[in-house]
Amino acid sequence: MSTKMFIGNQWVGAASGRVIPCINPADEGEFDNMPAAGREDVDAAVRAARAAFDGGWKKSDPAVRAGLLRAFAGNIRADREGLAALETQDNGKPLAEALFDVDTAAQIFEMYADLAEQFEGWRGTDIKLPVDYLTSTVTYQPLGVVALITPWNFPIEQFTWKVAAAIAAGCACIVKPSEITSLTALALAELAEKSGFPPGVLNVVTGYGREAGEALVEHPGVDKVSFTGSTATGRRIMSLASATLKRVGLELGGKSPVIVFDDVNIDRAVEWVMFGAFVNQGQVCTSTSRLLLHESIAPAFLEKLKKGAEAIVVGDGSAEGVQMGPLSSAEHYAKVTGFIAAGFEEGAKLLTGGRRPAGLDRGYFIEPTVFTDVEPDMSIWRDEIFGPVLSVKTFSDEQEAIALANDSQYGLAATVLSQDTARAERVVDQLDAGITWQNCNQMVVMQAPWGGMKKSGFGRELGRWGMEAFLEVKQKTRWLPDAGLGWYRQPAP
Ligand code: NAD
Repeated sequence: MSTKMFIGNQWVGAASGRVIPCINPADEGEFDNMPAAGREDVDAAVRAARAAFDGGWKKSDPAVRAGLLRAFAGNIRADREGLAALETQDNGKPLAEALFDVDTAAQIFEMYADLAEQFEGWRGTDIKLPVDYLTSTVTYQPLGVVALITPWNFPIEQFTWKVAAAIAAGCACIVKPSEITSLTALALAELAEKSGFPPGVLNVVTGYGREAGEALVEHPGVDKVSFTGSTATGRRIMSLASATLKRVGLELGGKSPVIVFDDVNIDRAVEWVMFGAFVNQGQVCTSTSRLLLHESIAPAFLEKLKKGAEAIVVGDGSAEGVQMGPLSSAEHYAKVTGFIAAGFEEGAKLLTGGRRPAGLDRGYFIEPTVFTDVEPDMSIWRDEIFGPVLSVKTFSDEQEAIALANDSQYGLAATVLSQDTARAERVVDQLDAGITWQNCNQMVVMQAPWGGMKKSGFGRELGRWGMEAFLEVKQKTRWLPDAGLGWYRQPAP
């Protein structure tokens, strides 16, 4: 098999003829390949997007865009099982989680259809001015041609978050999915074509970050790069984008804490902690990989956590009952096992896991892993591992927990578990994180802003913030015709 990429509603290979293999992480077998786009291919995609945008898409009626987004959602629902199975094969995640991702994707396309129709910024909103000879209205317009660069951990969701928002805004898009998991982005492009998307409005180029990704970031025909991925790549993109003064939105890494106070229901808290650390094999930007546990409940909590982690069924994500699949690639497997080795070397104590599960000789499988006695200077506490590795540290009072939680270069998410809702609220207010959860974990509220503080990036996705990230804001200030020059009559500040 050889899957093509999607440029200007044409299915094409790379001009160079080069391809990238698609590997199933559960058995390490190559099951497909896709084009390795270079500068020439990226240029063709940018030209297609620019022609669509300037040729009328930028003036398209938001109701028309909403109609396309709803048709897209309908086609996603109709292909639910096929998309989920492909995601599991390409990425490794359990099928039930892939199905959840597909369902959420359809809902997000519908939410952005509603937002496109309801957005008051198309008509404009008047600013209240303290004078009667001047009016000023704020309006919005689509930003232009946007490059959407996504990671491999939630390929369908990441495509959706960016594409639905950009299309609702009236932009023309070029998606560059991760070279590790591009197939569902191409399957979604096929559904966009079926849904009636005009040529050039949505393009998907597949390729390596250093080649296709950088070509997009440097291309003068691209107005904005919306990037989700690692902090290191975000830094490089920001620096490359400065040459053309492109707008950038960066959703980057994290090392998010979960603080568990002594008044919790321990069984329930263990479930939330395990979900936060191990869902999607721990390959979640908001994964709560640092557990701050009140010292008085630590022995009882850790006993249950060990039992719970050891009961997780690890295996091929397409098999019935599997709760944790393989890591996404050989390279990532080496990275995660390297961190586990560092945990031992630095003197942390292994509570459970740390090895390849018995009976799984092929595939990038690793047991859910928990380290205790972790010190704040250890790499497993400070660095993003992006795998099923949880580091535990105890605390004795609220202020200590807050200080430990905030002692990180990242500020993406933070979770507080406590029956005392006033305390949970008070603690959350002091945590430096863009996304916070109280008495739950990893809930994605699609109507709310998603993004980080500190080195977790800037800009927000989802909700109206996601759409506004693809708009330019404009003021329309009018002098009333019969009011004369009156240059001295400036509005009071
Ligand atoms: P990555 O940075 O290696 O790659 C992400 C994407 O960027 C891929 O499409 C890749 O091809 C491309 N890329 C790589 N180098 C590039 C370059 N020089 N120029 C342009 N594009 C380039 O990240 P990854 O390993 O795919 O994903 C894991 C990372 O993503 C983690 O750090 C994780 O926290 C982060 N992430 C963040 C969020 C969020 O919402 N904040 C969500 C998911 C993942």
